[in-house]
Amino acid sequence: MAETSYDCIVIGSGPGGYVAAIRAAQLGKKTAVIERDKVGGRCLNYACIPAKAVLRSADLLSEIREADEYGLKVSGVEVDYAAIQARREKVVSTLTSGVGGLFKKNGIDLIEGDASLTADGDVRVGEQTIGAETVILATGSVARSIPGVEFGGRVIGTEEAWALSELPGRLVVVGAGASGAEIASGFARLGSDVLLFEALERVLPTEDADISRLAERGLKKQGMKIFTNTLVQGVRSAEKSVTFSYADESGEADYLVIAAGRGPDVQGLGLTEAGVQLDDSGLVEVDGAMRTSMKGVYAIGDLTAGPALAHKASDEGIIAVEDSAGLKTHPISYVDIPRATFCTPNVGSFGLTEAQAREQGYDVVVGKVPYGAVGGGIVYGDRTGLVKLVGESKYGELLGGHIVGARATELIQELVNVRALEGGFAEVARTIHGHPTLSEAVMEAGRAADGWLIHG
Ligand SMILES: Cc1cc2nc3c(=O)[nH]c(=O)nc-3n(C[C@H](O)[C@H](O)[C@H](O)COP(=O)(O)OP(=O)(O)OC[C@H]3O[C@@H](n4cnc5c(N)ncnc54)[C@H](O)[C@@H]3O)c2cc1C
Repeated sequence: MAETSYDCIVIGSGPGGYVAAIRAAQLGKKTAVIERDKVGGRCLNYACIPAKAVLRSADLLSEIREADEYGLKVSGVEVDYAAIQARREKVVSTLTSGVGGLFKKNGIDLIEGDASLTADGDVRVGEQTIGAETVILATGSVARSIPGVEFGGRVIGTEEAWALSELPGRLVVVGAGASGAEIASGFARLGSDVLLFEALERVLPTEDADISRLAERGLKKQGMKIFTNTLVQGVRSAEKSVTFSYADESGEADYLVIAAGRGPDVQGLGLTEAGVQLDDSGLVEVDGAMRTSMKGVYAIGDLTAGPALAHKASDEGIIAVEDSAGLKTHPISYVDIPRATFCTPNVGSFGLTEAQAREQGYDVVVGKVPYGAVGGGIVYGDRTGLVKLVGESKYGELLGGHIVGARATELIQELVNVRALEGGFAEVARTIHGHPTLSEAVMEAGRAADGWLIHG
């Protein structure tokens, strides 16, 4: 029997959970969030935000190193790694206290503790049972290792990598997806000797092949060694270093980071007992409105299928809450979620790659424009960036957008918005863009797809 009750209980306070809770409170629901660790979830405390805070320092360092190209003589530049870490902590605490403030402002109760579902659909925290009309599971994900290797000692996950208290002299990164590429790019520029390994044939293997190629070229310029089609094996963590083997070689490093993906954090949530169904990969099964198999229980974010991204989690949180409040919602189109990788060069994309569009049988049209074709690319010093649009020829539909280069993670949003508003590449081509901006390269890629590229 529940001792207290709420209209909406959210388990987990990451970008899925805290956004869901605020939306529920806005809709007049008496809401509580249960968090066993820190407010803001992994995203704010250990993952997205700390990663980008450290990368910002690396990016600034890169710019300072190129300053003489812009007529600026800068000398005596040093990396103060402790200060970089202190800034990371400050950025995190600013944002997490902001979330705490939003909870207060919206009258949301924060309950500290480890929550689980009961068979009746109530929520248990410690000795307390709390009733709720709606429960939103937003417990996120945990790092997964590679076969035969366990985390521990000098074998660390991506979250630990960004929080290392000393700048590692030698760093091995296993997995060249978004997180692995970011870590390799950040630490290589701050001064670590980095080896980046990828089991598949290219870095950022889920991105369009043209984008991967340019990203790899950019990463190599930062001094790291990249091994694709290569498995890392025989990993042994010792007190002062970690040893490993690959191909016919063996190596030693200060730390080995495994960036090989994540799995849903469902341990101890009581899902099986409560009858919440999981799919074959252990993710919580949901419909388009994020409803699980148990009435009144929703699941969002890294717990469910689709890309493991913070903004996906937040959007699903809004869908779940609005559905529970009886509002009309619509399922997310997962392929159209913007994907952002904050290594240098930046990568932003959405939708289908050229290869995927061809496989799916579209009559594909491609518009490709290097940043150097427009004034902004030359003025701001990135000629090598590339915008690539993938469209279909009959209706001019925008199937995918792929950008590598400065500010790609910001530039991609325009294409996502155009598609969401049912525009195609012709609309991108004919929308007036400010001058001189990098976004003019996006417009020119629209023109290239439409067959009338002006600059190029
Ligand atoms: C290193 C790294 C960098 C990343 N960078 C980006 C990026 O730049 N952009 C991006 O979009 N995504 C990024 N991601 C992915 C992003 O962090 C996740 O997609 C996002 O955090 C998922 O949000 P969530 O709300 O589902 O869960 P989380 O952020 O994981 O939060 C879940 C919360 O639930 C709590 N919890 C778990 N179980 C319980 C329980 N039983 N009771 C109470 N509380 C519980 C946890 O303590 C945690 O605080 C990154 C991931 C990593 C690892």
